[in-house]
Amino acid sequence: MITVRFAPSPTGNLHIGGARTALFNYLFAKHTGGKFILRIEDTDKERSKKEYEENIFASLKWLGMHHDELYRQSERMHIYKDYASKLAKSENTYKCFCTREELDKKRQLFEKMKRSYKYDGTCRKLSRAKGDKLKESGKPFVVRFKMPEEGETIINDLVRGKITFDNKELDDIILERTDGVPTYNFCVVIDDALMKITHIIRGEDHISNTPRQIQLYKALGFELPEFAHIPLILGSDKTRLSKRAGAAAVTEYEDDGYIPEAVINFLALLGCSYSPTEEIFPLGELIKRFNLPHVNKSAAIFDFTKLDYLNGYYIRQKTEAEIAALVRPFLIKAGITPGEELLLKVVKLEKGRLKKLTDILDSKYFFKEVKEYDTAGFEKYFKDPVKIALLEIYRKEAEGVSFEATNLEVFTKSFAEKNGKKLGELVHPVRLALTGKLISPGLFEVMETLGKELCLKRLEAVISLK
Ligand code: GLU
Repeated sequence: MITVRFAPSPTGNLHIGGARTALFNYLFAKHTGGKFILRIEDTDKERSKKEYEENIFASLKWLGMHHDELYRQSERMHIYKDYASKLAKSENTYKCFCTREELDKKRQLFEKMKRSYKYDGTCRKLSRAKGDKLKESGKPFVVRFKMPEEGETIINDLVRGKITFDNKELDDIILERTDGVPTYNFCVVIDDALMKITHIIRGEDHISNTPRQIQLYKALGFELPEFAHIPLILGSDKTRLSKRAGAAAVTEYEDDGYIPEAVINFLALLGCSYSPTEEIFPLGELIKRFNLPHVNKSAAIFDFTKLDYLNGYYIRQKTEAEIAALVRPFLIKAGITPGEELLLKVVKLEKGRLKKLTDILDSKYFFKEVKEYDTAGFEKYFKDPVKIALLEIYRKEAEGVSFEATNLEVFTKSFAEKNGKKLGELVHPVRLALTGKLISPGLFEVMETLGKELCLKRLEAVISLK
């Protein structure tokens, strides 16, 4: 059975890049009828935090990616210990007593020579007896793996093809730290093998770990899985994804008013192709179409415009009641408790314009008094007594009008004509008076939604400015 895993370290909130890795694994599992395992890689006690683990769970749940099995590495320490003894017995590992200072010095020397650092194997040459003696004397040590010194290690990557490493370049990686805690490279191999992971789908940044892990598989007598390294995500300026360019936690996207359907569709497009022409793929469609050969080699570019477009699209697919329920918490957070009937009317007006749920906050004027006006608009429309006088007459005549949008349109058009004005000369200042803004949904619909009483009151507030 095809089995994949998503293996985040709970050392931070689930990042958008991590979510993309999770999604590719999830889509592949669902596409093939396989299993999606979530494995929390929390061996680093200092940096791993429960709150981050919870953030990972909440983010995956929000995105709709449910795991079939869950593991925590911190609960599997005994397993790693067993394998460490096995490797020690088969003489595939050795104790390394080099101190941090000694290693730092060596590293600096390599840097000076502009060579990439590799542990020089000082302790590999120690006899076992000498090693045991040093251990007994209480000298701290790490356990290192003996990498083969000859030959090549080849990854047949399902995305990148054949990648060859000269074994001379692989250093003797640390499997256990001085405090006995096993390292990432060690745990990951044991877990992937014992959990019968068939395909390891992860970020390209792990390619350099892979030959080291392959050697561990071999030493432990495990069967090799398939590897698929997915491309990096770059910001729109083609450099490393920065916070400003989109590198944020999934929960931050949620707080910013993105909806999971859009985030899923967006992430799925980051480094994978589904069709030469289309871009809208809901989850079900992605599951049908996703496959590893469609993953691109080249880096994916994060494009906020596309994300906003998709978000707007998926918002529009919802019913007005659904949208109302989604935007309500954002209004409440802004101190507004909207009545359901009014909220539904506002959603109806705003639906086509919402890119993010937070855009609903542009329509606060439906729920709250208008206290401020767009500055440029104020200068243009409310400073001139002649223009205010026109608003005053408009307001007076509006008193006798029935406030349905079509009616208001007929009234305003004929009012403009009668007074020798262009329609815009009325629409803009009236809009500014009613909403505080120069841009809003159709003015007459806004007026109908606000109702006669509020409209007249807001016009009066502007007239009394003079
Ligand atoms: N815990 C590792 C990480 O978060 C997982 C790497 C892997 O998928 O092998 O980067």
